[in-house]
Amino acid sequence: LFNSALLEKDAMPELPEVETIVQQIRSRYKGQIIKQVEAKPERIFQNISAIDFCNALKGKRMVNVQRFGKFIIWNLESIFPVFHLGMSGIFLEDRNKSRLPQHIHINFLFENNMTLYFQDVRKFGKVYLYFSEPDFDGMGIDPLANSFTFDQFLILLKSTGKNIKSLLMDQQIITGVGNIYANEVLFHAGINPLRRANKISRKPAERLFFALKEILVQAIDRFGTTYSAYQTVDGTTGENQNFLKVYQKEGQECINCLRPIVKITINSRSTFYCRHCQK
Ligand SMILES: [Zn+2]
Repeated sequence: LFNSALLEKDAMPELPEVETIVQQIRSRYKGQIIKQVEAKPERIFQNISAIDFCNALKGKRMVNVQRFGKFIIWNLESIFPVFHLGMSGIFLEDRNKSRLPQHIHINFLFENNMTLYFQDVRKFGKVYLYFSEPDFDGMGIDPLANSFTFDQFLILLKSTGKNIKSLLMDQQIITGVGNIYANEVLFHAGINPLRRANKISRKPAERLFFALKEILVQAIDRFGTTYSAYQTVDGTTGENQNFLKVYQKEGQECINCLRPIVKITINSRSTFYCRHCQK
């Protein structure tokens, strides 16, 4: 039996799920003008009230949609709504007006009569509004940013003696990688999750750096990993859960050596790896 609380925590959308949502909102709503916004005054609103948020967005054009780590940033010319999905936040396009999804917290109506809903059953999501482009300096590095180089990654590794899995998941250092992808990236790179970061030499560090980018990009190509709440904007599940090699695979055969995948706990998070393939 799995620990549902832990699974829930692991199911938080990570970078690939957020990027999938960003790409889908961009492709569907970019260039559109917001005609009307309705919102429930929930705790998700951070630096602005629900009513002020709705008024501010009315009449604004969606110039672009971007991502930083797990934040979704809408560029509406002069204002910048920022969303964090928390544990269960999703955006849903309106496909069937006769069946309105439940627990809608924000309802965006566009001039072409397209609708976009923000739903957050658990209400751990966060909504901000900024009047200039938000500054993410001081937050962790986005692992898919072009500016994130191998040399920079090496410096990060050398800077700490903590285990490599905790480093990958430290949002202050690298933003967007949670438990699912940390497990998968380490398997792909053949590195033991307990290895001290500053003891990883150049060759395995290189494998790890490229595995990090590759696993995330692959997951984006597969519309993310669905474990519980996450859905794409068109209401379907991601596909990457069908391609996981170690996450939640305790006792199953390693795809490389056929030995069983083991499960340990690091930082109170379930950790899955192959003792033979990951050194
Ligand atoms: Zn193995």
